[in-house]
Amino acid sequence: MGNAKAYSAATATSPLAPTQIRRREITERDVEIEILFCGICHSDLHAVRNEWSEFLPTNYPIVPGHEIVGRVTRVGSEVTKFKTGDLAAVGCLVDSDRTCPRCQRGLENFCPNLILTFNSPDKHLGGVTYGGYSESMVVDEHFVLRVPSNLNLAGAAPLLCAGITTFSPIHRAGVTKGKKVGVVGLGGLGHMAVKFAKALGAHVVVFTTSPSKKEDALRLGADEVVLSRNQEEMRRHTASFHFILDAVSADHDINPYLNLLDLDGDLTLVRAPAKPLAVPAFGLIFGNRSVSGSNIGGIPETQEMLDFCGAHNITAEVEVIPIQKVNEAYERLLKSDVKYRFSLDMASLREQ
Ligand code: NAP
Ligand code: ZN
Repeated sequence: MGNAKAYSAATATSPLAPTQIRRREITERDVEIEILFCGICHSDLHAVRNEWSEFLPTNYPIVPGHEIVGRVTRVGSEVTKFKTGDLAAVGCLVDSDRTCPRCQRGLENFCPNLILTFNSPDKHLGGVTYGGYSESMVVDEHFVLRVPSNLNLAGAAPLLCAGITTFSPIHRAGVTKGKKVGVVGLGGLGHMAVKFAKALGAHVVVFTTSPSKKEDALRLGADEVVLSRNQEEMRRHTASFHFILDAVSADHDINPYLNLLDLDGDLTLVRAPAKPLAVPAFGLIFGNRSVSGSNIGGIPETQEMLDFCGAHNITAEVEVIPIQKVNEAYERLLKSDVKYRFSLDMASLREQ
């Protein structure tokens, strides 16, 4: 058992501040990881501020972070996937029961006994799990992913949540050449969706509320950019999309996007604002349209996504910051001022 430096929030209204946490001694199947980079997901901010109090109340203190890339420093005696010195990554999950039908299908993300990387019961130490805003962590090897060696590590970290959360529904929707795909919100998740849909050959349209992101969207691979507050621009795409992914972090009306779906088109929500949505039946009925949801991805698919990124040289566009700037980064997230993921350089924590 060891102490590790970390950043935590003490209440829903406190800033993140330096602290010390305990990490468990490795067991036979555990991998100990020195964390090199951790992405900042908008879910970290929702959790720190207890914005999901109805569904997933936050236990304080909270150490967020579930986009983790690092180097293996020790392995347990039965570990087969990793050795000391390897690159390793951890996403949103650190444990599950491994026996339920969902786990057996590789969908650990839907296991009823799922343990999230932060704010879930910690069966080893008691209390709750602590995430990646920390210098090290200990995780069962089943939940540790391999990182392709050609990827930039700061840019690879966000693949562990923003990457898999967009890859999974895009994959499931059968996105390929000849399909017209919309991405709503060019933030951490949205910009990854653009990269994946483009790599799969689709015609990609970005919907943004930020005129200043237009050039970037095209550079990232969008074929067209629509300013979603301009009704005339929106109307030009009526009934034309096979698939639209909504990756917005705040409440907004989905009705205008339903009207853009072609016959049998699907609008998948990956965003997670707490307030229920008003879904108009007529927007669905006239066109056999559907609204779906998607939640991260299982471990096998997460590895598949990382391997896909290795093969296509895909990483997130990151602004690398020291952890001391994390509170400032949260304020910028709230203003949609992120280009396009913050990646915390954990050397800044070790040197503190
Ligand atoms: P982010 O980086 O902050 O990006 C969100 C984007 O939403 C912004 O950049 C902005 O894009 C757009 N936006 C913000 N406020 C808006 C508003 N009022 N109206 C319309 N658009 C607005 O967030 P993220 O990390 O990508 O996360 C997005 C959402 O997905 C969050 O709610 C997060 O909790 C959720 N999430 C879900 C899962 C899952 O498994 N389902 C996993 C991870 C995250 P533009 O400037 O382009 O408009
Ligand atoms: Zn996330």
